[in-house]
Amino acid sequence: MDKKTVRDLGADQLRGKRALVRVDFNVPLDERQAVSDDTRIRAALPTIEFLLDKGARVVLLSHLGRPKGKPEQKYSLEPVSRRLQQLLPKKRVCFVESTDTDEALKATHDATTDVLLLENTRFLGGEEKNDPRLARGLAELGDLFVNDAFGSAHRAHASTEGLAHHLRPAVAGLLMEAELEYLGKALTAPKRPFVAILGGAKISGKIDVIENMLPKVDRMLVGGAMACTFFRAMGLETGKSLVEEDRIEMAKAMLERAGTKLVLPDDAVVAPSLEAAGRARPVSRNAIPRDEAMFDVGPATRTRFQKEIESAKTVIWNGPMGVFETPPFDAGTASVAQAMASATKRGAITIVGGGDSAAAVAQLGLEGNMTHVSTGGGASLEFLEGKTLPGVAALDDRD
Ligand code: ADP
Ligand code: MG
Repeated sequence: MDKKTVRDLGADQLRGKRALVRVDFNVPLDERQAVSDDTRIRAALPTIEFLLDKGARVVLLSHLGRPKGKPEQKYSLEPVSRRLQQLLPKKRVCFVESTDTDEALKATHDATTDVLLLENTRFLGGEEKNDPRLARGLAELGDLFVNDAFGSAHRAHASTEGLAHHLRPAVAGLLMEAELEYLGKALTAPKRPFVAILGGAKISGKIDVIENMLPKVDRMLVGGAMACTFFRAMGLETGKSLVEEDRIEMAKAMLERAGTKLVLPDDAVVAPSLEAAGRARPVSRNAIPRDEAMFDVGPATRTRFQKEIESAKTVIWNGPMGVFETPPFDAGTASVAQAMASATKRGAITIVGGGDSAAAVAQLGLEGNMTHVSTGGGASLEFLEGKTLPGVAALDDRD
């Protein structure tokens, strides 16, 4: 990676300094306003602990949910600070209700606090507008800037991109570093064979991913509803399956260009509707009934994809193979996840990107069996599209 990270900073740049760290604590809260999944909080711990170990005090900024530039109690980060305190039992964690006032500034100078979490950045009007005045105000809250919010790096907001222009050094945190390392290395210097697996609901959201990755991969396996748009491009009947009519021509052109690199499902699991999951059955891709829909890839496809994955040295997966939320249409997704888990054991690099794919892997308890599960859904997608992430671009370059 050509961006500086916290590891590149000298001891004197950290000892006694206020490290202003943008994290991604955009976690789900339950009805009682408690954190229901703390994965993203735990993902930031290595950076927080690294900075504390070097004698810095840590001031954390994050957004949560989509408040419209003004305070809204249900999006408060206060429950997150309580969870963070539980995860750092030996440290003193404090929460400040306001972000850009004298109170916040004073709190950052309180030497008895180890970790300070400020209230939701999206309570501030200038955050999503990337208002330079807000960025300058936030910059007062630290002596250096660390961006560890990979999941927000594709957005140029005041607390992500803006801050880096007003506070130096501006470096990547350890989570950001890991994300860029794994995703970056896979795209620029993959160990081959390099296999990409794409699925999910819509081809339209992933066209740029297909375009950017097709020249780089040895094989691209396509499942999910996306496959049905390709089926239509091949002139096949797709019944009531989810098809994007306005993308059929484009899918045709893509098929011609891709040749044998692009592998579509050989068979499908169909049913009259999601509610009639009890009537699910496998059919060949040439035999999808007019009054039924494809909700998963079939058993022959599972075997084919498994073989491809098992002979790969690098695997990137984005998008479920079927409607994994509704069994039995989770079988295709589960089989890809399991094949990737055994590929990891063999020494292959396996990477999962995308919110729903990551959720499916977690549901299967296989998170620990992948080389890397990206914490950033939208950001990892934009990375795979070959786009520059503004939150990363603004950080200090390595000399
Ligand atoms: P990710 O978040 O991993 O990038 P997407 O958001 O693109 O994935 O797609 C996930 C959604 O795709 C899931 O909600 C899943 O139910 C849906 N999906 C997958 N296959 C099908 C299908 N054959 N028909 C309808 N929806 C599907
Ligand atoms: Mg999704």
